[in-house]
Amino acid sequence: MECPVCNKRMEAREIRGIMTDVCNEHGIWLDRGELEKIMEKIKQEGWGDGFAESLSSWRYGF
Ligand SMILES: [Zn+2]
Repeated sequence: MECPVCNKRMEAREIRGIMTDVCNEHGIWLDRGELEKIMEKIKQEGWGDGFAESLSSWRYGF
């Protein structure tokens, strides 16, 4: 998968069982369905405020 901003190849990275794509310059990308899955997991498993806050720096665009 290429970054939608710079078109460079991104690194696939698994975060708590959710596959994401990471651009060194533009951060973590994931689609809307994945965002909902992560939010659901956070609610069910209680990952902590720090992780939920870090989600705001993620990008969604696929
Ligand atoms: Zn990029």
